[in-house]
Amino acid sequence: MAKSKVLIVGGTGYLGKRVVKASLANGHDTYILQRPEIGVDIEKVEMLISFKMQGAHLVTASFDDHRSLVDAVKRVDIVICAISGVHIRSHHILLQLKLVDAIKEAGNVKRFLPSEFGTDPARMKNAMAPGRVTFDDKMVVRKAIEEAGIPFTYVSANCFAGYFLGGLCQIGHILPSRDSVVLLGDGNQKAIYVDEDDIATYTIKAIDDPRTLNKTLYLRPPQNILSQREVVQIWEKLIGKELKKSTLSKEEFLAPMKDLEYAEQVGLCHYYHVCYEGCLANFEIGEEGEEASKLYPEVNYTAVENYMKRYV
Ligand code: NDP
Repeated sequence: MAKSKVLIVGGTGYLGKRVVKASLANGHDTYILQRPEIGVDIEKVEMLISFKMQGAHLVTASFDDHRSLVDAVKRVDIVICAISGVHIRSHHILLQLKLVDAIKEAGNVKRFLPSEFGTDPARMKNAMAPGRVTFDDKMVVRKAIEEAGIPFTYVSANCFAGYFLGGLCQIGHILPSRDSVVLLGDGNQKAIYVDEDDIATYTIKAIDDPRTLNKTLYLRPPQNILSQREVVQIWEKLIGKELKKSTLSKEEFLAPMKDLEYAEQVGLCHYYHVCYEGCLANFEIGEEGEEASKLYPEVNYTAVENYMKRYV
């Protein structure tokens, strides 16, 4: 059977570039949206050319030009969007409404995977402001997809390893200390950490799998469901040294909120829900969802200890 043709939007991004690599590695005919707006951003241009040399097709289209988006999506079966959605970098989740319009008009797309890849926004109805903007915007996009009758898969990827393991689950850190760590609350809430390349691999596996049609795919690699204390223990074992530990109550954690920049406030809210409330692991996946490591046991995912060896 011929492999699906895949268009990746946001293909030079932190996650998007890995999705491109996974798509090529899986033998899909891979198309990447090339936005004229990137101008003379030499690193993006260089990356796009390198993907082209590996067999990808570059398709010029702009979010400001509806026709170009329609023409781009007409060339493929599957659209994966990995547009930005982290305020400390940039946040353009609602731009996807233009992509939804284009997919609706084109009428040929068999599956759309919008830019999700985090906490399941459908479970965050009571999330704290201003961080809830991420979940609210992702839900606006979901509503548009479902109202347009576009077949979809939502990927709930939990914690990107680079942010959360790199920083031993501490906001504002992406490299682990060899001296000390601040435990959030009792440090015992479970979270779920996934290597970004594994997120891309599972995503590509799901794109034409009937079991994930119109469902949420949750990434829960069983060995990677760990508390902050367990992550710290793994790091201590790797460096052969115990870290000094202090703790931060939820009130202390939230107290600086009003003095922070907006983007930092959003991040603080997200860490609060993950590390104090345990919002990623405190529910059972129901009928609306599937779990990636169960569907694709052949994926040899990176366990936390192996991931963290890079920092030693
Ligand atoms: P990036 O910040 O790397 O941006 C991705 C792409 O978005 C860029 O490469 C660019 O695409 C596109 N983009 C940026 N600005 C614009 C604009 N003005 N107009 C059009 N396109 C634009 O994104 P991430 O990889 O960090 O995030 C991707 C997804 O992953 C988001 O949904 C985010 O919420 C989620 N995420 C989840 C995390 C977790 O821990 N669970 C952590 C980080 C992200 P182009 O290639 O065309 O230039």
